[in-house]
Amino acid sequence: MDAISAIVAEIAEEMRAQEHRGKVADYIPPLAQVPADKFGIAVVMRDGTVHTAGDAEDPFSIQSISKVFALTLALGAVGDQLWQRVGREPSGSAFNSIVQLETEHGIPRNPFINAGAIVVCDVLLGRLQPREAIGQMLRFVRMVAGDETIVIDEVVARAEQETGFRNKALANYMRAFGNIHAPVDLVLGTYFHFCSLAMSCRQLAMAGRYLMAGGQSDGHSVISDRRARRINALMMSCGHYDNSGDFAYRTGLPGKSGVGGGILAVAPGIASIAVWSPGLNSSGNSHLGQLALERLVQKTGWSVFEPR
Ligand code: GLN
Repeated sequence: MDAISAIVAEIAEEMRAQEHRGKVADYIPPLAQVPADKFGIAVVMRDGTVHTAGDAEDPFSIQSISKVFALTLALGAVGDQLWQRVGREPSGSAFNSIVQLETEHGIPRNPFINAGAIVVCDVLLGRLQPREAIGQMLRFVRMVAGDETIVIDEVVARAEQETGFRNKALANYMRAFGNIHAPVDLVLGTYFHFCSLAMSCRQLAMAGRYLMAGGQSDGHSVISDRRARRINALMMSCGHYDNSGDFAYRTGLPGKSGVGGGILAVAPGIASIAVWSPGLNSSGNSHLGQLALERLVQKTGWSVFEPR
């Protein structure tokens, strides 16, 4: 076993033994059914080597991790014009907060809180019908992961549609400020489908390769190196909501979480990493996922702040 495989196995073992696991999200009913004792980790190195441990092959709901892929697509569609409609500052508020929208005229703080991701979906619908936008997302994720088996979980999408009252409030509120252009139901339908992508740690870590490798994946350019750097910067500053500062302090890595318990983290030039454990902390981020990434960085020195 090589060094990274040994580290990954060690971390999975350590996480299995943890008693405190956080609380599984229950506001989206199908997510409440996921066993709390799951833990998976996958590390894809720059040379393509993959190291996995635990439940790394189990598909889970990637939820807000999809916001990274949606942002990538929206920047591809409209470039820097996107920033007229969404900011680039950490919010310091919960992922589903509405408070700042009032004083900030319907402009969400960043693309990784729900309000920001809903605007990103609306931007995509400026050029595509919902079905086309969802198809584009699925094709994109399959392409960057190199895996045609990735699907959207329609049960989760439907549950979000039925219970997503806060998201409906956010979208309607932004529409009142003129920052949502397409019909609210269509924007949310698209957003909920993106959140309902089901992926395993292995698939997610594979999908994150373009962010690790300056925009390159499988020898072709997905986005420019400058754009990859910028998306990583946003992941570092805003990827864990009001817990982003703490995540950066503990890991020194760009990362994006989802309430399904997944986290995609990027060690630029080194590795793309996905962890999954469904129990969440009070900010809606995977408790053991964060701990596992903290341990990984302690063991490898992969923090972007490590002097090289
Ligand atoms: N679909 C979830 C929601 O809209 C995504 C939230 C998350 O993963 N933080 O509430």
